[in-house]
Amino acid sequence: MTAMVNAHYTKDLQELFVKAPALKDRIEYTLWFFPEVINIKFGRASRSAYYDGGTGTVRLTKISSNYVIGHEITHFLQDEAHFNGKTLPKGERQCDLFLFARSPALVADFWKAGDNSYIGWALDIGGLRSVYSREEGQAMIFEVCREAVARYNRGPCHYVSWAEKRINENIAGRLKDRGL
Ligand SMILES: [Zn+2]
Repeated sequence: MTAMVNAHYTKDLQELFVKAPALKDRIEYTLWFFPEVINIKFGRASRSAYYDGGTGTVRLTKISSNYVIGHEITHFLQDEAHFNGKTLPKGERQCDLFLFARSPALVADFWKAGDNSYIGWALDIGGLRSVYSREEGQAMIFEVCREAVARYNRGPCHYVSWAEKRINENIAGRLKDRGL
């Protein structure tokens, strides 16, 4: 499976692919959701994944999840120095929101320990796990974030906090329905 994108992998990352071939699969899968990305550079991070704004490189580790890969690609889309298209608003929560609005498959896996996120800090994760399966919850968060992006496109507004509040309201509604 190859995405329609010219992805450049640094030598140290290609060496990592030998030990962790699934990482390359996750990068290619995640790139499918970014049709606006034509050229992009990926490298290896020594400790945790980050976007290297100095060189415009997404740096990953062998355990980087689809969420983490998508989050760092979204930072590339926020970077007018390296991304040639229309850039996205800056910020960590903005980064998560625009990522989650692309596909349920890119919503952080809150059901699995380790896949945390910036928007996740504002959410009732315990409640989310207790009343939503992963598939349902990722779909719900995707829908809310997609609506938040539509609000952002209509004009200045607090679309990130709106989305966080709306997700928590959906969780609270289900908890109430179930008498929890
Ligand atoms: Zn970030």
